[in-house]
Amino acid sequence: MNPVNQRIVLLGPPASGKGTQADRLAESFGIPHVSTGALLRSECDRGTPLGKEADAWTSKGLLVPDELAVRIVANWMESNGPRFLFDGFPRTVGQAEHLDKALDFLGSPLDLVILLELSEDAIRRRILERISCLKCGATFSTSLHAHAEGDPCPRCGAPLVRRNDDNAEALDQRLDVYRKLTLPVVGYYEKISPGILHRIEAGEGSDEIFGKLSALVAGDKDEA
Ligand code: ADP
Repeated sequence: MNPVNQRIVLLGPPASGKGTQADRLAESFGIPHVSTGALLRSECDRGTPLGKEADAWTSKGLLVPDELAVRIVANWMESNGPRFLFDGFPRTVGQAEHLDKALDFLGSPLDLVILLELSEDAIRRRILERISCLKCGATFSTSLHAHAEGDPCPRCGAPLVRRNDDNAEALDQRLDVYRKLTLPVVGYYEKISPGILHRIEAGEGSDEIFGKLSALVAGDKDEA
């Protein structure tokens, strides 16, 4: 399928389902899913200098500096081109400005920004029950799925783990950072590109949310 919208930003708090939905959209529409969190975790796993630098921030629930986040995205765009579904980028107004400048330069403006909204209670519950595969990015709930830490990932076989920032302390910090630094990105897009931003309630069932997102990506904006 060749969707109308090919440059898409997914915004939302931790555990709002950005990664899961971006994976499904990537598979349906053939647009590459880029998670800056996953790119950083992979650098960290491989023990690269960039990964070590990033870990000092991410393990505490803090954002890595804009310069580092922009660098990792610019590297990705250089080898992959301007078709993307960004999950976790931009996370500050500074990053959004950088992205706009880069896309202006390429003559390929952003098509769509989607905000997944979720209550704080639901965020806390999901994060504290979450186990993840650091290899393929799949996530599972210890209460909804029959998987536990250390079990092999049903998708790729790597061991499931609790992310080092999926704990109550780091989560408080991540929520604080989200409110202070990432929510202003919503206002930024509403101001500079009226009509580009769409809000979706992320507490609904995964298939229902996917249906709404698919309609938006396909360009059927009235459906969502
Ligand atoms: P979540 O959305 O569940 O919090 P992510 O995998 O998107 O998790 O991000 C994990 C961590 O990686 C963040 O808490 C932050 O430290 C770092 N990170 C990811 N993307 C960015 C970004 N665009 N700018 C700065 N830091 C980032």
